[in-house]
Amino acid sequence: MKFDELGLAPEILRAVHDAGYTEPTPIQQQAIPVVLQGLDLMGGAQTGTGKTAGFVLPMLQRLLRHANASSSPARHPVRALILTPTRELAMQVHESVKTYSKHVPLRSVCVFGGVDIKPQTAELKEGREIVVATPGRLLDHVQQKSVHFSQVEVVILDEADRMLDMGFIPDIKRILAMLPSARQSLLFSATFSEEIKKLADVMLKSPQLIEV
Ligand code: AMP
Repeated sequence: MKFDELGLAPEILRAVHDAGYTEPTPIQQQAIPVVLQGLDLMGGAQTGTGKTAGFVLPMLQRLLRHANASSSPARHPVRALILTPTRELAMQVHESVKTYSKHVPLRSVCVFGGVDIKPQTAELKEGREIVVATPGRLLDHVQQKSVHFSQVEVVILDEADRMLDMGFIPDIKRILAMLPSARQSLLFSATFSEEIKKLADVMLKSPQLIEV
């Protein structure tokens, strides 16, 4: 299968081409059409399988439908939230977002704890459609009112099993409760314990299941 058979927009395919990818990986072949249809997804995939592009590429395409080029922050509300368990993973996912979004008019920011909050606040106040975050620091920004979730269309939980191991599930649930209920939700995990399934029940609506 080729990337151009997946229904992705030309400006997204151009970034894929620039990245040097020739063929979609198995998780990408399965996840991209599901996400493009707007369906919820529970994906079982380890790192190294290409899962990041599997959710970022179709997420960009969905956001692109209503993208606007205005520079007013009110016109760049947060529309996609990607939650990761660690700062390292947040930075890695954010690099992927930047790589895949380089030809589209969507802006992103990465927020995580252990560093000065002010530069992150400044970026959020400028307006960013895509926020890649660790849960604790994101909640700090919520408390400071530097981020609002009323326009969130997509939420993605990456490495949910590690979130669980690190004790982040209560934070995740608090964040989910603030999001519009009319949204698309994706959950990725390497393993599916009973607790992950319970979280999926709270977070996802009639999810498609994909395992690689
Ligand atoms: P991930 O599992 O998302 O962490 O991705 C693992 C690595 O595979 C990253 O370095 C990606 O840049 C790379 N990658 C993702 N998709 C593809 C693809 N279709 N072809 C070649 N490399 C890819």
